[in-house]
Amino acid sequence: MVKKSPKLFVFTGPSGVGKGTLLAEFLKQNPNLEYSVSSTTRKPRQGEINGISYFFISKEKFEEDIKNNKFLEWTKYNENYYGTSVETVNKALNEGHDILLEIEVKGALNVMQKCKNCVSIFILPPSAEELEKRLTGRNTEDKETVVNRLNIAKDEIKQAGKFKYNVVNDKIELAIEKLNEIYNKEKNLEH
Ligand code: ADP
Ligand code: 5GP
Repeated sequence: MVKKSPKLFVFTGPSGVGKGTLLAEFLKQNPNLEYSVSSTTRKPRQGEINGISYFFISKEKFEEDIKNNKFLEWTKYNENYYGTSVETVNKALNEGHDILLEIEVKGALNVMQKCKNCVSIFILPPSAEELEKRLTGRNTEDKETVVNRLNIAKDEIKQAGKFKYNVVNDKIELAIEKLNEIYNKEKNLEH
């Protein structure tokens, strides 16, 4: 059997929509899919582990990495830097592995410009009210940050049509099923 080319999956959607929740299960079900750990200057939340959730680095180190072209893409989101390592992505693809990025919408659009063959997936909330409920209910951000993230979300959702796939995260199991369908379909398609 001819081996298919490895693919870059770009997974995005507004904060609080459930990206992390869906990905934890989706990656468990698809252990061959590598996850790209981003760098950020945000402070770790309770339970987040350096090198697994993110590489938590200083603003100075992040800015040095920008200068040294270490990022495939990077952005400033709500006062913190976030970026995808170009080396991580290239290494996975060169070794023949599929790799997945979970990044915010502007970064995702940048990657789509640079890597025309990537598979882009936008996760949508079932409603604006439900998004607010999830973001508030997660209890990881202060009120001001939640308000900022919801404002950013309004603009982000307008971009959903630019992505190859839209998946509504209403029931978790159904959204995972849809993601598995997309992954299996894409694995069998050449670019
Ligand atoms: P994101 O990674 O997109 O910021 P999270 O995965 O942290 O979002 O999810 C935000 C909150 O919403 C969490 O408390 C999570 O448990 C909850 N959540 C995620 N998916 C669903 C769903 N389908 N139905 C109800 N709650 C959900
Ligand atoms: P959080 O602070 O909730 O972990 O992440 C905030 C936003 O940053 C989320 O939408 C998340 O997808 C995004 N994000 C995480 N890593 C990266 C990255 O490397 N690049 C970009 N552009 N966004 C990222």
